[in-house]
Amino acid sequence: CGIVGYIGKQDAQSILLNGLGKLEYRGYDSAGVAIETGSELRIEKSVGRLAVLTDRLSMSPILGTVGIGHTRWATHGRPSDANAHPHTACDQEFAVVHNGIIENYLQLRERLLAQGHRFTSETDTEVVAHLLEEYWTGDLLSTVLRVLKDIRGAYSLAILTRKDPAKIIAVRKHSPLVVGFGEGEQFLASDIPALLDYTREMHILEEGQIAVLTASGIDFFDLDGHPMTVEPFLVTWDA
Ligand code: GLU
Repeated sequence: CGIVGYIGKQDAQSILLNGLGKLEYRGYDSAGVAIETGSELRIEKSVGRLAVLTDRLSMSPILGTVGIGHTRWATHGRPSDANAHPHTACDQEFAVVHNGIIENYLQLRERLLAQGHRFTSETDTEVVAHLLEEYWTGDLLSTVLRVLKDIRGAYSLAILTRKDPAKIIAVRKHSPLVVGFGEGEQFLASDIPALLDYTREMHILEEGQIAVLTASGIDFFDLDGHPMTVEPFLVTWDA
């Protein structure tokens, strides 16, 4: 299972698919991407091999320069198109990819159902999309910080929203996540090899660290929203 993300000036779809291909060795049962097109946040996802998703996208490409992608190893909910990531909430304005487990998702799901949210998957992940919608402050980072106070478990997340579209937020709690620095473009992945075609300047997220990616750079925060400084390192080996 794996996560990728891209924000910049190039075609996001091809970079996401290439990165997901490099993460195939981690094993997965489904794959998907969410890309902001300027008029919508379009999601394409499919159970099965990455080639199934790649075929669908080659017939109907998503044009955009900001996106996130995922390969899933199902823990909650069988492998299916509906359970594949990215997940979204009622208004289709948030996209979430997740590796790991949200341990308290059942309680959160009950609460959100009572608040009128309708669920379209059986995953633990979908609660995150609905919580983002529920807590939306007008700013993605403060909304994510609020959501993280509700969820328990071991996970990594990448989040995109139409409401604040020039940004990807990534969070690491016990599941690996790496960011890559570029010129006017930034990258995100579960593992270093997925980024080596694009950059050698990287940072491995620390436990409980949040990365806010914009085209021009990456800012880091702790779970209380305090800024953190990081020292990028240079990858000198080849995959
Ligand atoms: N728990 C999530 C699910 O079952 C994520 C699994 C993963 O790490 O790929 O959909």
